Amino acid sequence: MKTGQQEIICNCCKKVIQEPEKMPYAEFLHIEKQWGYFSGKDGEKQEFDICEACYDQWVESFQIPVKATEITEYV
Ligand SMILES: [Zn+2]
Repeated sequence: MKTGQQEIICNCCKKVIQEPEKMPYAEFLHIEKQWGYFSGKDGEKQEFDICEACYDQWVESFQIPVKATEITEYV
């Protein structure tokens, strides 16, 4: 992950997740998706960032809960 260069704002609630030139002070979800030919978006690339609070709300709306695994070893 890149650190401290650009401002990162949550696309969902507009909260500043990371201020420029600072170390990230919150974890967030970055999604980058290049949609293929069969998607109807025809090769369009889309990106967004979601803060942890919005992520929690988002996954709570899932019909199938996210798979959670406890990580005991950090690399
Ligand atoms: Zn948010």
